[in-house]
Amino acid sequence: MLECTPLSLVAPHFFTTRAIAPGPVHAASVDGWQQIAAEAGVGVGRLCRVAQVHGAAVHYVRRGQPAPSSAALPEADAIVSDDPTVAVSVRVADCVPLLLADRRRGVVAAVHAGWRGTAAHVVRTAVGALGRAFGSGPTDLVAAVGPSIGPCCYQVGPEVRAAFAEAGHAVDDIDRWFSADVGDRLRLDLWRATRDQLQAAGVPPEAIHVARICTATHVDRFFSFRVEGAAAGRLVAVIRAADAPRVADPGGPSTLPPGP
Ligand SMILES: [Zn+2]
Repeated sequence: MLECTPLSLVAPHFFTTRAIAPGPVHAASVDGWQQIAAEAGVGVGRLCRVAQVHGAAVHYVRRGQPAPSSAALPEADAIVSDDPTVAVSVRVADCVPLLLADRRRGVVAAVHAGWRGTAAHVVRTAVGALGRAFGSGPTDLVAAVGPSIGPCCYQVGPEVRAAFAEAGHAVDDIDRWFSADVGDRLRLDLWRATRDQLQAAGVPPEAIHVARICTATHVDRFFSFRVEGAAAGRLVAVIRAADAPRVADPGGPSTLPPGP
């Protein structure tokens, strides 16, 4: 289990290692998920999971709404929540697990960002969703980029770069994210792309924390799709909205006791 220290000051969260191998994602499965839910401080019925489709759709969890249904999971690659009684989660094997929390409001997001989602602007979309749903300003966000495949190991074809261009990313950005490898092969730096997209969305650079742990290099500790293939397990990134913001708001009456 890994935590990002600056993020832990804002919201309870963690990234799992190989020590926990959750079963299939359908909501009825409790294998491993019960342990993950318990670590997050909720029952497994309050652990929100989504059917990830490598897109940029957002699932909204709102305080006071009923527990997530155990029927079909919503299709989404980002979840935003203001409900401290629900832990929200994404699953990855090499893709980037991104967790966000608002240090004033305590609201959170969990994002699955592989190359397709990153090309589809899922990072910017998640930051925007926190703003629209809960009034979060990007300058109040703290971001943790968890273990994922690094530029050391992430070889891709030219069609991936073309997809970023087609999705409207600036050439300067694409040039920073892709570097030449053997023949027509390229290296993609998803850590850099995620950081740049967070900054472009207004998140302060000093509030972006990248673990810089490559899952393919450290397959002894983390699952890797590139190394292990389709049978690879999944790292789960989990975060739960704070009951109350944990970092004092210098401009607000955060030290006052709750009123009657
Ligand atoms: Zn590596």
